Amino acid sequence: MRVAIIGAGVSGLACANELERHGIAPDVFEDRWRCGELFPHVGVLLQIMHRPVKDLVQDLQENYDIHIKPLGKLKKITMYAPKTSGTVYGDLGHLIKLGQSEDSITGQLLGRLKKTVINYNCRADFLQLARAYDYVVVASGNQQAARVLGCWEDLNKSWVMGAVVLGSFDPAAMMMWVNTGYARNGYAYLTPFDQNSASLVLVVTDVARDEIYSYWEKFWRVEKLSYKVAELWDLEHVAGFVYPHQVDNIILAGNAGGFLESFLGFGHVKALRSGVYAARSIAGGGKYEESIEQLQENIRVSSTLRKQLDRLKNEDYDHLVAFLTTPGIKQLFYNTNLDMFKLMGKMLDMIKK
Ligand SMILES: Cc1cc2nc3c(=O)[nH]c(=O)nc-3n(C[C@H](O)[C@H](O)[C@H](O)COP(=O)(O)OP(=O)(O)OC[C@H]3O[C@@H](n4cnc5c(N)ncnc54)[C@H](O)[C@@H]3O)c2cc1C
Repeated sequence: MRVAIIGAGVSGLACANELERHGIAPDVFEDRWRCGELFPHVGVLLQIMHRPVKDLVQDLQENYDIHIKPLGKLKKITMYAPKTSGTVYGDLGHLIKLGQSEDSITGQLLGRLKKTVINYNCRADFLQLARAYDYVVVASGNQQAARVLGCWEDLNKSWVMGAVVLGSFDPAAMMMWVNTGYARNGYAYLTPFDQNSASLVLVVTDVARDEIYSYWEKFWRVEKLSYKVAELWDLEHVAGFVYPHQVDNIILAGNAGGFLESFLGFGHVKALRSGVYAARSIAGGGKYEESIEQLQENIRVSSTLRKQLDRLKNEDYDHLVAFLTTPGIKQLFYNTNLDMFKLMGKMLDMIKK
């Protein structure tokens, strides 16, 4: 069987790995000269968003044959709202390296492939490939194919500005900030590479590119940050709802399949899983649309939460952070196995009232 995969990001590479396990060697087409994001940063696999799974890295290994060595465990999150702050502790998730190095998540996935052919510097046209291959998995990280196929509905757009910053950091700790003055209804976060460098990211909802730098400057000013900046980048973040996820022999996976959740803009776990499900359905393991139902449900919940977040003002964020870091509540949120992601909607409603 001939299978083409468009995009050698996490979703495309997870798909290739699973196809190889079923004896199929796919052709991957990658626009860039090598795999991985153009800028290094540190991503988070947040445990709370994937309950009842207890350890995401272990789950990916056991159930999806995805072997990732994270940078480390996330043990502490400190949240800052304009007038409140608080910290939670526990097994909160994993920190993963993104970018083009061998120890990045894409570098690690790539290192496990044996039979897959990767064609770099090759911008693929999914309609052309659909005529030449039995299946085409679109894992391009963007909405273009789904739009052409008429399966894409915009959910929200943000502009993201990020930097590699130098300073002194706790390698197991993340910091998060919310303040409508510089993030609107987005947020900022800092995740460490190690003790001396970290990734600092500001996500601003509904802004144009030429406005993002003034929000970034305001963020630094308001939070009195004094890190040294080693590298600066910006990009657009678009989340959308996709249905259906398969049209004839074309399958949409990862961000291209709408698996970027709009609540916090996270998508790695769903990108990996949807890539694997795409491969399994091609290899005869059932219908793709049915296998991704749970992921799609999570996207629906996330988009409802996003709408609720978009209504919050700074005083609401103060209440939210105070609530999330109240003893007892934080135990419930972070140290149990309850699906808090689903319960969060009720909590946000309560805070807004
Ligand atoms: C700044 C930032 C921070 C993030 N942080 C987190 C986080 O902490 N946790 C989390 O879970 N998620 C996070 N995400 C989301 C996560 O990165 C995405 O959900 C994930 O990368 C999606 O994987 P993908 O394989 O679908 O797409 P991508 O990783 O974007 O890969 C797509 C690939 O396709 C290639 N491509 C595109 N078009 C073509 C074409 N026509 N022909 C050939 N190749 C093509 C691209 O060059 C790229 O290599 C973050 C995203 C951003 C932008």
